[in-house]
Amino acid sequence: MDKNTCSEKKETTSATLATLGEFGFIERIRQRVRANPEVLTGIGDDCSVCTFPPGEVLLTTKDLLLEDIHFRRAWIDMYSLGWKSAAVNLSDIAAMGGTALYLHLGLGIPAETALDDLEAFMHGFLSLCEQENATLCGGDTCRSVQGLCISVTVQGSIPPTELCQRSGATPGDIIYVSGTLGDSALALLQLHADEKPEADIALHHHRPQPRLQLGRALASQGIASAMIDLSDGIFADLGHILERSGCGAELDTRLIPLSASVQNHLQQQPQRMPQVLRGGEDYELLFTAPADQQQRIARLSAELKLSLTAVGEILPVQEGLRSIDHCGVLHTSMFDTNPDASSSGGFNHFRA
Ligand code: ADP
Ligand code: MG
Repeated sequence: MDKNTCSEKKETTSATLATLGEFGFIERIRQRVRANPEVLTGIGDDCSVCTFPPGEVLLTTKDLLLEDIHFRRAWIDMYSLGWKSAAVNLSDIAAMGGTALYLHLGLGIPAETALDDLEAFMHGFLSLCEQENATLCGGDTCRSVQGLCISVTVQGSIPPTELCQRSGATPGDIIYVSGTLGDSALALLQLHADEKPEADIALHHHRPQPRLQLGRALASQGIASAMIDLSDGIFADLGHILERSGCGAELDTRLIPLSASVQNHLQQQPQRMPQVLRGGEDYELLFTAPADQQQRIARLSAELKLSLTAVGEILPVQEGLRSIDHCGVLHTSMFDTNPDASSSGGFNHFRA
């Protein structure tokens, strides 16, 4: 675990953003950002000015994180919140197979927010940026009258021939997922139930690792036919690939890789299995690849020391989404033409 976590945070002071002011805060961020020769002008001018790899195309992604919708201050420390704010965006660049380059950070901050908390937030945010060689180049900072609002934009690049989109799957392709799934969903379930998640489970939820190296390797080696990051849950996210690719699939939930901690927990509480399997926020990659790529995928997995597990197969669209549950029973669901009405069970902000 990073030694700079909030659990070891230094003595707190009562200073708030009001003490330092907007520009004092921005100056502190500027001083903390590691210099990057590709950033010609970073924080401090009207626009950031950055170079771009010739011949590549621009990837841009944005995510909002709103207090009490996406996170609760009581459940997550500020270092982790900063980390996660960068991670969920960087994960989208990974899912296209790209290289992350530049970030812009919009913050709406309640006036009473402690300066120490903001420093911890920026520390977490910038630590992940440094790990992934991506640079914070600018943003905007305002006062919020209700809750902390975080808006992150990440830009990346990729040679256009290497793009991994949701639309590239074809029948016969094998479906793979990286890492283990369900840790994050279990942590959230436990937090809602006033239980304390085990440390490793909580870490998956609060500090996801965007799989940039994996995404880049799958794209540059031409292995993946389609790819998505698992933010909404495997059923919902596989559903997105199937909709965009015009395919069906069979998903064998018995093959979904679970960590030892999740397996232990589910042995005690088997009734939580469906929620854990359908939950989101794993930020692992789900990708499809032709069956003849199996050996290259095994090699890549060994190289990256990251498990890549086959969990199903792409089928013709008329097969719908067939899933085999933990008792070996086959369930079939057809797609609804309204994506919001689909029975994927993932998270949807506007669904009742
Ligand atoms: P402007 O009024 O021209 O939009 P601002 O006063 O809002 O500029 O911001 C000053 C500089 O600080 C800009 O370069 C902007 O990109 C940067 N900045 C503001 N807020 C943040 C932030 N939260 N993170 C990183 N850079 C920021
Ligand atoms: Mg501004």
